[in-house]
Amino acid sequence: MGWKQELSEAYRTPGELISQNGIELTESEELFFKKTEQNYFSFSVPRYYLSLIENRTIDPVRRQCIPSVEEFSVKPWELDDPLGEEKYKVSDRLIHRYRDRVLFLVTDTCAMYCRHCFRRNFAGGKRDVVTAQELKTAAEYISEHREVVEVILSGGDPLTLETAVLDRILSALKKAREDIVIRVGTRIPVVLPSRIDAALTDTLKRYSPLFVMTQFNHKNEITGRSSTACSMLIDAGIPVLNQAVLLKGVNDTTEDLENLFHALIRLRIKPYYLFQGDLAAGTSHFRVSLQKGLALMRELRERLSGLSLPVYAVDLPGGGGKIPLNGDYIGSLTDKGWELKNAEGKIFYYPEE
Ligand code: SF4
Repeated sequence: MGWKQELSEAYRTPGELISQNGIELTESEELFFKKTEQNYFSFSVPRYYLSLIENRTIDPVRRQCIPSVEEFSVKPWELDDPLGEEKYKVSDRLIHRYRDRVLFLVTDTCAMYCRHCFRRNFAGGKRDVVTAQELKTAAEYISEHREVVEVILSGGDPLTLETAVLDRILSALKKAREDIVIRVGTRIPVVLPSRIDAALTDTLKRYSPLFVMTQFNHKNEITGRSSTACSMLIDAGIPVLNQAVLLKGVNDTTEDLENLFHALIRLRIKPYYLFQGDLAAGTSHFRVSLQKGLALMRELRERLSGLSLPVYAVDLPGGGGKIPLNGDYIGSLTDKGWELKNAEGKIFYYPEE
């Protein structure tokens, strides 16, 4: 079966989960689907990814793909725009937060809507695929802004686009700036590995230097099929790095993280970042306390080599930018939460939940 058919056959309703897969919904999952008259984040899970569920109720894969009613519980400190990107928008799809790189949101579609997603205000929305005019605007911008070294394609998941469409986007960016470095942020190798085919790798490798940034969060996501997909990219000369998210009930033990990072380096994938959860609305049930995250990293530092160990980092709420969670960046725990300092020396607070 081709990847497009696999994508079209992804489960999109609770009825399909139950009748075609024999999944029994928990009370919390059932309540989510009963409340969907409220505004909610899209639901879609490829059959392949669902098949990775081992334990039918408590499972790291299940937790990432089947929604629960906790998504409707929004904490006062949670935000629709948790990274504060609105003020850095050059256009609806282009964000220039850091001097040397821009984020380009090329589609709002994902193969799977990860329940912990912090881009839920864009992904699964009504923005669809970047238009020719929007692409032209982005290309002109990077052509005029020579300080931009990298373009990060995101969304949504850029690899849900047809190869010909991706080719058009990459070609326009490279024509505008021959020296541009491209990063593609994607969960495709994890959730729909069949999408990584020869036509795609042949296309991507023509736009070197191009990096694929993926997101494996648990060792159970590393299978024969996902390993093959990553090997195809790497063998084509496309470096693959992993940006995991620290998630409660998914990977919040030293063993889970150690197993994940070891499995990744065996696949030639560098564990690049481990992200502290962003303050996205309706995701508090996934957030691990910062105190626990720091303790996990202390243990991992004793167990893992520099190659296996990612940088533990957080995107400061309200547009403070990304900082590593170590050294001078971390202040004390106050009544307002953790005092964190960004590269410009400004103080931001992150709650200790
Ligand atoms: S693939 Fe990325 S953008 Fe899409 S739902 Fe998952 S985390 Fe969000």
